Amino acid sequence: MSIPGPEPTDVLSVRGVSKAFGAVQALRDVSVDVRAGEIHALVGENGSGKSTLLGVCSGFLAPDEGAVVIAGRPLRRASPALARRLGLGIAYQDYSHVLDLSVAENLFLAAPADARPAYGDMHDWAEETLEPFGLNLPVTAPAGALSLAQRQLFEVAKALQTRPKVILLDEPTTALGPEEVDHFHALVLDQAQKGVAIVYVSHRLPEVLAVAQRITVLPDGVGPGTR
Ligand code: ADP
Ligand code: MG
Repeated sequence: MSIPGPEPTDVLSVRGVSKAFGAVQALRDVSVDVRAGEIHALVGENGSGKSTLLGVCSGFLAPDEGAVVIAGRPLRRASPALARRLGLGIAYQDYSHVLDLSVAENLFLAAPADARPAYGDMHDWAEETLEPFGLNLPVTAPAGALSLAQRQLFEVAKALQTRPKVILLDEPTTALGPEEVDHFHALVLDQAQKGVAIVYVSHRLPEVLAVAQRITVLPDGVGPGTR
């Protein structure tokens, strides 16, 4: 007789979330559960509310209705800092780098306060922090000198350095070529294997389906479903 393993743990739980911008109903009664170690694709047409849903989950947008639970604890108010503390990381569709600052300085700014090194140790610290991601980014170069692909990968690395329990990736491959996508997927799979829950938003369906275990479709104006 086999001993039943632990139930799959929901690290992110979205319950009945609705959100309107004026007359536009961006989200209507959306519920999604994301488990530790799974890659969960979030797909839908342009304008179906994918970025809005990530905004609500990450505390940037207050939902009109519904609730978000991160690692078992409710996101009681729309606060990005609170979402981060509960274990959520996000890589934005439009990168959040300060282009005049170096890669190391950008990483420093995105790091939790208790993980920041002394200012003088920043370059060594940045090399060490980025090393596991295998991106070979020049830490002393200004972020504005990175290629678009490098900026996109750096955006994900910045989110991962906080060691989130769940990470939200909003269209993370738009600037990547096929080889870079393969490398990126290897990184995502490695994170999933380490138990991180991954929400992967993409409109490149074949690409995201190649790595995702489950998929939630956000249709226009209809309730969504997880398959
Ligand atoms: P997706 O990421 O799936 O393309 P979005 O979440 O960006 O969709 O947008 C969903 C809908 O909400 C769209 O109709 C969009 O125009 C609208 N919307 C998104 N953000 C705002 C905003 N800040 N103000 C007004 N309308 C918005
Ligand atoms: Mg979007």
